[in-house]
Amino acid sequence: MVSQNLAPDYQLQREWDAAEGYLRRAQHILAITHVSPDGDAIGSLLGFTLAMRGMGKLVTPACQDSAQVRYEYLNGVHEIKQSADGAYDLIVALDSSDLQRLGSVFVPGLHGRLPIVVFDHHVTNTLFGVVNVVEPNVSSTSELVLKLIRRLGLTLTPDIAAALLTGVVTDSLAFRTSSTTPDTLAAAMELMKTGVSLADITRKSLVLRTYDSLKFMAAGIMASQMEDGIVWACITRKLRREIGTREDRGDGNLVGTLITATEARIAAVFVENPDGTIEIGFRSAPGYDVSQVAFELGGGGHPAAAGCTIPGPMRDAVNRVLPRLRQVIREA
Ligand code: 5GP
Ligand code: MN
Repeated sequence: MVSQNLAPDYQLQREWDAAEGYLRRAQHILAITHVSPDGDAIGSLLGFTLAMRGMGKLVTPACQDSAQVRYEYLNGVHEIKQSADGAYDLIVALDSSDLQRLGSVFVPGLHGRLPIVVFDHHVTNTLFGVVNVVEPNVSSTSELVLKLIRRLGLTLTPDIAAALLTGVVTDSLAFRTSSTTPDTLAAAMELMKTGVSLADITRKSLVLRTYDSLKFMAAGIMASQMEDGIVWACITRKLRREIGTREDRGDGNLVGTLITATEARIAAVFVENPDGTIEIGFRSAPGYDVSQVAFELGGGGHPAAAGCTIPGPMRDAVNRVLPRLRQVIREA
């Protein structure tokens, strides 16, 4: 699938060439990944950072929010800055489909004049860089970073490979999504050949969860409803308090579990943020595309996995979004 946002004359090869030029000329790169980072956000950020350092560049990796504890096995994860006030000559945005996804790390007054090179795989990418390497058919941004490493002839170290394999494994749900291609498997094979363990990375990045989050998942499933092929749940601040979970954000990938119901065509989880806004995660079964709904609501994502944040209160958010999801099912 090609992004509806890609201009008719969008030529990927030209973007790759231009990106390579910017990277070769840069001295100090500010590399930024998206807010609430997942495995591909952290993996592509660290993989890119370490690879470019191998090319002799100064690189500062940054993300508004800290990485989840589960990614602590990755070398470099503690080096990620949550703000960036140094002197840079280039910004590289990873796994981010629009400028807002860079969060508070990107300060227009400080960074507004710097060129931005985008590496991303979201179909909803708004092409906000001066150069945009956007490949919606690639399963993860980490896989794109591996392509960059091959292009530049850089050395693939085990640390880089562990970071990139984390992104490949998490975004493909361990090679189970329809975005998984022979190229994805070839990327994983190349990364494994550096000696990193696929089993170990899969267990740490994807399988293990805290007992607390298992209980949260159970309460979320109990609170869910099913109607017209839509399985959905609301996690209000009140419900979170009642469950007694330590996490005060996110859905703990409840939405990824709800879509495993055979009856579900679309799953949605509405989370009330501490500031009262509502964060929504969407998943869809094959044949249904939730990326455009998320995009219309100011977010983005992939056909089968997308998200957005909209104003509260919860009831208004639900009443606004459910009819739109029913429409997606009707029109599929
Ligand atoms: P998740 O439900 O795992 O948080 O996100 C699923 C997909 O949707 C990911 O590719 C993620 O980057 C994207 N996504 C989630 N929330 C947002 C959002 O608020 N804005 C944008 N642009 N994309 C989002
Ligand atoms: Mn990704």
